[in-house]
Amino acid sequence: MKKVNNIAVLTSGGDAPGMNAAIRAVVRTGIYHQLNVYGVMYGYRGMLTGDIFPMENQTVANIIQRGGTILKTARCKEFYEYEGRKKAYENLKKFGIDGIVVIGGDGSFKGAQKFSTEFDIPCIGLPGTIDKDIAGSDFTIGFDTAVNTAVEAIDKIRDTADAHDRLFIIEVMGRDAGYIALHSGIATGAENILMPERKTNIEDIIDDLQANERRQKLVNLIVVAEGDEFGGANEVAKAVKERLPHLDTRVCILGHIQRGGSPTCLDRLVASRMGYAAVMALLDGEHHNNMIGIVNNQIEYTPLDHAVKATQKIDPEWFKIVKILAS
Ligand code: ATP
Repeated sequence: MKKVNNIAVLTSGGDAPGMNAAIRAVVRTGIYHQLNVYGVMYGYRGMLTGDIFPMENQTVANIIQRGGTILKTARCKEFYEYEGRKKAYENLKKFGIDGIVVIGGDGSFKGAQKFSTEFDIPCIGLPGTIDKDIAGSDFTIGFDTAVNTAVEAIDKIRDTADAHDRLFIIEVMGRDAGYIALHSGIATGAENILMPERKTNIEDIIDDLQANERRQKLVNLIVVAEGDEFGGANEVAKAVKERLPHLDTRVCILGHIQRGGSPTCLDRLVASRMGYAAVMALLDGEHHNNMIGIVNNQIEYTPLDHAVKATQKIDPEWFKIVKILAS
């Protein structure tokens, strides 16, 4: 087993609330185990430019509750090329870095897998993405916060929808996975939830709205994931307006507020546990080049090349529940 002495942590790809809690856990667990811990700024870009600095317990004080990432994040084109990764390796060598924790999405893991194979530096991935779209974990860092932000916003929209008897079509994030839509839609009592994993039949939605109108239910919320096959909230609204022009239909796209904010308790727990497990995996040597996940409340390891974008199957019963509870 290759012994690890100097490790680096970085955040890569899209940001997610809870990344700071994960950084804190990596730094403090590493220092507890007498490792030198380095921070890399702006993801892989910082590896290429040498934007690397030593971190202490104090460096991560007062960040567990903060959204965003103190290490910043970026996408880095040069890292797709061998030459770029070689440059990154040479910079890491200057600091004697012999282990890396990458907090990011599946793209970041692909990069880490290539890097570790080419330069024999073990990498551990932590799933940091609000979309919860990575195979190998029931939780991803940031999902719970994003959902709670969406719920809070939709609750407010419901107040105004109710005051004016309006139909609101609300778009939440989720290009490939509809979990934010599913969870926030159920939690806010939405009448319909549209998501990429499920075929959208606009006729069914029109039928539901007409049925609601007949029974004098004039306030309706439809939650749409941005990656829904119909093309998002604006497209759904256009189709509804064409068929039911008399309805007072409004669109609200929640957008980037879902990425920000103080992480929820659950995201802080998940991030702390995963950050700790990442350092332990670097130390034990048995789980190098794996992503840390939590499955059935246990830490699970998924090889980085299997930690791909994936959507878990959504139990169709949820849609039955949505329908019954909205009646
Ligand atoms: P998100 O889910 O938020 O998009 P991500 O980690 O999937 O996060 P990407 O933009 O796909 O985000 O990847 C982040 C960075 O990882 C890229 O900018 C690039 O530097 C590196 N990367 C991604 N895919 C590869 C790859 N196939 N080979 C080498 N590096 C890669």
